[in-house]
Amino acid sequence: MSSEFQLIQRWFDWSPSSVVVDTAVGDDAAILNQMPQSKPAEQLLVSMDTFIVGVHCPEETSPHAIGYKALAVNLSDMAAMGAIPSWFTLAVTLPKVDEQWLDSFVAGMKELANSFDVALVGGDTTKGVLSITINIAGYAKQDRVLRRSGAQAGDMIYVTGNVGQGRLGLQAWKDGSDRFPMARKHLDYPIPRVHESGVIKQFATSCIDLSDGLLADLKHIVTASSVGARIQLDQLPLSDEMQSLPPESAYQYALEGGDDYELLFTVPQAKIDVFENAMAEKQYGCYQIGVMDGKEAVSLYDGDTQVSHIFSGYDHFS
Ligand code: ADP
Ligand code: MG
Repeated sequence: MSSEFQLIQRWFDWSPSSVVVDTAVGDDAAILNQMPQSKPAEQLLVSMDTFIVGVHCPEETSPHAIGYKALAVNLSDMAAMGAIPSWFTLAVTLPKVDEQWLDSFVAGMKELANSFDVALVGGDTTKGVLSITINIAGYAKQDRVLRRSGAQAGDMIYVTGNVGQGRLGLQAWKDGSDRFPMARKHLDYPIPRVHESGVIKQFATSCIDLSDGLLADLKHIVTASSVGARIQLDQLPLSDEMQSLPPESAYQYALEGGDDYELLFTVPQAKIDVFENAMAEKQYGCYQIGVMDGKEAVSLYDGDTQVSHIFSGYDHFS
């Protein structure tokens, strides 16, 4: 097993069968068909995320989880935009050709790609410090694209699932603790909320996925929409594992912790009954955690009491 060509053929030529794919791996570029156009017109949404071991996951993360998560975070971006993911390209830099590692890495990524029906259509393979970059594309009807802007004062704020699980999982790994198996699993195998997004996009005025922490990501909606937000700490969905922590840590993880990959979005009050029914019908999680208000800031409440906050989110450069 030596040449770059053989390496690509063995691990990265998945021969996807998809209506958009004419030719995937093997030529100098992938050849893709136009999506069948419908009215109102569909738009192409494109996003890219780089995954570096030691930054985006602990060094000891299994290759299976690395493959899974590198794609999961990209699918999550598509979900946040209300897009149906369609295909992706994959740039991998490998320190060496480790067959077992590659088998497992590809298995983790393929499992997720198959379950969300996204095709690997090309990429690049180089030697160097381990790094994985995925460029993903999806489609959405023009009037159904979700953005960070669009939230209005009075809209209710929702999340699709438990917050703080990513941070708790990271802590469990740092402590070498097996007390929080669900959080540990969540850190390696977050479920991108692509299906949920299909319902959310019919109702939401704004949306973002939680990668850097609830407060940091909510601030993006606040800034982009020029409105404020009021969060009810007592309404944050917390796992049983989180509830076993001292409340201070639980709230800190929930508000500041990254790697949740839940969707955070806003729905006008007039639509919340229909929206919640639509989510319940499909058994999708949705938790009301606050309301957008007029002043361009985020305030935290526990019941009727305002809590002063010192929380922030994750920033790669600070
Ligand atoms: P070139 O030298 O012309 O850039 P490459 O040898 O890099 O061609 O790639 C050959 C083919 O294999 C292309 O179709 C490319 O998209 C695909 N490819 C290379 N690396 C990967 C990868 N990691 N995943 C998927 N496809 C890949
Ligand atoms: Mg190349």
